[in-house]
Amino acid sequence: MSTVREKKRYDLIVVGAGPAGMAAAIACSKNGARVLVLDEGKSPGGQIYRSVSTSPFAGDRSLLGDDYFKGEKLVTEFSRSNLEYISTCSVWMVEREADGSCFGIGVQYSAHSSGETAKSEVFQAKSVLIATGALERPFPIAGWTLPGVITAGAAQTILKSAALVPDGKVVLAGTGPLLYLLAAQFARSGVKIEALLDTTSFNGMRTALPFAFEFMRSRYFFKGLTILKEVYSKTRVVRGVDTLEAIGPTKITGVTYRKGSKAHTIKADSLVLHQGVVPQVNLTMAAGCDHHWNQLRLAFEPQTGDFAESSIPGIFIAGDNTGIVGADAAEASGAIAAVGILTYLGLPSNGIAVESQRSIWSAAMLGRGFIDRFYKPAPQFRMPGDDVIACRCEGVTAGTIREIARNGAQGPNQAKTFCRSGMGPCQGRLCGLTVSELMANELNQPVADTGHYNIRNPVKPITLGSLAALQKIKPEEEVKAQRLF
Ligand SMILES: Cc1cc2nc3c(=O)[nH]c(=O)nc-3n(C[C@H](O)[C@H](O)[C@H](O)COP(=O)(O)OP(=O)(O)OC[C@H]3O[C@@H](n4cnc5c(N)ncnc54)[C@H](O)[C@@H]3O)c2cc1C
Repeated sequence: MSTVREKKRYDLIVVGAGPAGMAAAIACSKNGARVLVLDEGKSPGGQIYRSVSTSPFAGDRSLLGDDYFKGEKLVTEFSRSNLEYISTCSVWMVEREADGSCFGIGVQYSAHSSGETAKSEVFQAKSVLIATGALERPFPIAGWTLPGVITAGAAQTILKSAALVPDGKVVLAGTGPLLYLLAAQFARSGVKIEALLDTTSFNGMRTALPFAFEFMRSRYFFKGLTILKEVYSKTRVVRGVDTLEAIGPTKITGVTYRKGSKAHTIKADSLVLHQGVVPQVNLTMAAGCDHHWNQLRLAFEPQTGDFAESSIPGIFIAGDNTGIVGADAAEASGAIAAVGILTYLGLPSNGIAVESQRSIWSAAMLGRGFIDRFYKPAPQFRMPGDDVIACRCEGVTAGTIREIARNGAQGPNQAKTFCRSGMGPCQGRLCGLTVSELMANELNQPVADTGHYNIRNPVKPITLGSLAALQKIKPEEEVKAQRLF
């Protein structure tokens, strides 16, 4: 692996150095493709294996567990591969170049990684693999913008990369395997967990029941039971929580929740929220790839073919980006994508055992039907009350979104013009699903018909200075531009 960029035009650019991106990059480079991998992380690994090669917990592996350190093998192979890799950078554009010959991939280096000022650059590649993984589903409750309220993913990122945990009284709330995994990791780290408020709905449990047998045959069953046993033995778990509110004047001081007809308040210095993860689709949407609404998983997902092909020739999508699949299936999907990419490039795909990768993928997907139903977040936690902020960047409440739907806005794109929701720095990454569901519900129509914000480049915040410095307009082009006006 090299961090020095000599060539600006690549056969393949991979966005995301998680299990999917790394597996595809390794396989493609082995078969002669010139590969560049771009990733926001400080080191390769993605979400699950974040910082595994530099882990502060290498001496005591019990805290983060075997599933985390399993990533060392893949990261080592990635590091030894004949490819180029840039860390700590954000891809803000994937777009076919005007002459159609290749794709332009816009990347911004953080001020920290590029020296004094943030800098942008556009690379070119014949093909692109978007393997940007997942992000946490929004969890809009009253008080969720108060300092001291964070998500489980953010808390885990800080734990994995910096060995830091929240101080004082900590409450965890929500649903999903990651919440319980973090509770176990927190408990092992000595965090003072006041309570875990479980919002898993009875309806979800009921609809998951027919899939219980399949789940019991999956690898998730014993892993899940072990974690549940550990959390229940060390932490107070309150099941059946129907409502949640973070309270405090300027920062969180407590959490109020309702279980059945009874309201309770507990003191808290931090509240850690989580209700599952969803595909991170801003880049695939901005690139123009086709997407569909998955009613079971309550998320928009890109359309992909048998070899990870998107609806745009030359753009491939793998891993959690395509729908939540987990680390093992993500890695297998990266290897399968490599075959599609190499075929597209006219290169051989030696050494990739597609059928065995498909078997790994299927085995890793066993039990997902149960998990998807069991942990389906309840409607009141996806579509909050009127006073709750839905779009954090622009401070737009759920009530405003409902009101504009009643006043004639037909979907999230009109919401942008009515109230600026989705137009802040996150460009709808955080509020997209909430706004789509709120409007669909108010308009009494399916989310599939309501749609998602139209996502446009740049999908990540970039500075005007770095954009302006990208290309100098030649004098004759400047003259033409002036004549037009
Ligand atoms: C916050 C979080 C924590 C998780 N923790 C666990 C866990 O502890 N255990 C577990 O089993 N599963 C966990 N998961 C799920 C698990 O990460 C995935 O199933 C698996 O890692 C998916 O692999 P992937 O390669 O598809 O994507 P990921 O591993 O998510 O890798 C995607 C990579 O793309 C990068 N990226 C995203 N957008 C851009 C961009 N625009 N420009 C540049 N880089 C970009 C990200 O920084 C990341 O490094 C977690 C998921 C999330 C969202």
